[in-house]
Amino acid sequence: QAKVAGKNCHRFYSRAMDQAVERRVRMEQDLRGAWERGELSLAYQPVYSLADGQLRGAEALLRWQHPEHGAIAPSVFIDVAEQSGLIEVIGPQVLRLACEDTMRWQQAHPSADQMFVSVNVSPRQLRSGDLPRQVATTLRDTGLEAARLHLELTETAVIGDEIHASGLLARLRASGVKIWLDDFGTGFSGLSHLRRVPVDGVKIDRSFIADVLRDPDDLALTTAIIAMAHSLGITVVAEGVEKEGQYAILRERGCDLAQGYWLGHPVSASDFSLLLA
Ligand code: C2E
Ligand code: MG
Ligand code: MG
Ligand code: MG
Repeated sequence: QAKVAGKNCHRFYSRAMDQAVERRVRMEQDLRGAWERGELSLAYQPVYSLADGQLRGAEALLRWQHPEHGAIAPSVFIDVAEQSGLIEVIGPQVLRLACEDTMRWQQAHPSADQMFVSVNVSPRQLRSGDLPRQVATTLRDTGLEAARLHLELTETAVIGDEIHASGLLARLRASGVKIWLDDFGTGFSGLSHLRRVPVDGVKIDRSFIADVLRDPDDLALTTAIIAMAHSLGITVVAEGVEKEGQYAILRERGCDLAQGYWLGHPVSASDFSLLLA
């Protein structure tokens, strides 16, 4: 098609591409130092037990308030941070802040003593090999108990270098930290990974949960994931619960934990503290 349209078309596309590259480069520059300028913060989304409806923990989600462009989606800037290597600076800061906030909640609310905080870790952070040391230092400095920290990894972080990854994950788990596989079910070989990669939990991707009431295949897959995970002793979390009906059916199928807009949106650390009060 491009060939038929000829030279102008080609020039149009390369200009559009230049612009995209330029945007990325500019975003990378803006992201550098964003933490120091106070533009980055964490939002916390509550995670509930399906069996008793109790609040069990929170997922920390990074937010970037750009001075000119406003809020930028993590799906956009995390990718830039990952490609540029900036994630190796931002990731440890996220980890530290999430542990600090959780310690503060625990100190302010005795009921929060057993709550967990779940932190997303990008493939590059895992690949760097420094994660076990970073986690150990952060837990020591903040005083948070290892079992209260959950790390969320996607399958892409593990694929390709499973031996290296499972070694790192085994070390982390030995220290007491829990490992959850995020966006579970979207990757191809999700099930076979569970044999080789040691994890404590899987988070069923919200694309399955979205149609669980309408599409019998999605319900069948979700039910199968729950059964399979439980037979391996793995905890199951459903993400993206937006309707009461989804919550009800997941509960009926024995899913352990759930998060989603129906249960609670991601909120600031101080608003999360109100949830605990
Ligand atoms: P994720 O880890 O799968 O996080 C869940 C995403 O789903 C969050 O999007 C959350 O706001 C959104 N969500 C929660 N409940 C619902 C719901 O009921 N319906 C819908 N439609 N969405 C819901 P968010 O905050 O935009 O983050 C997107 C992704 O960015 C995350 O996906 C995660 O992969 C990545 N991310 C966010 N924070 C960090 C971070 O600190 N480090 C790293 N490496 N990645 C992060
Ligand atoms: Mg996550
Ligand atoms: Mg997810
Ligand atoms: Mg997802």
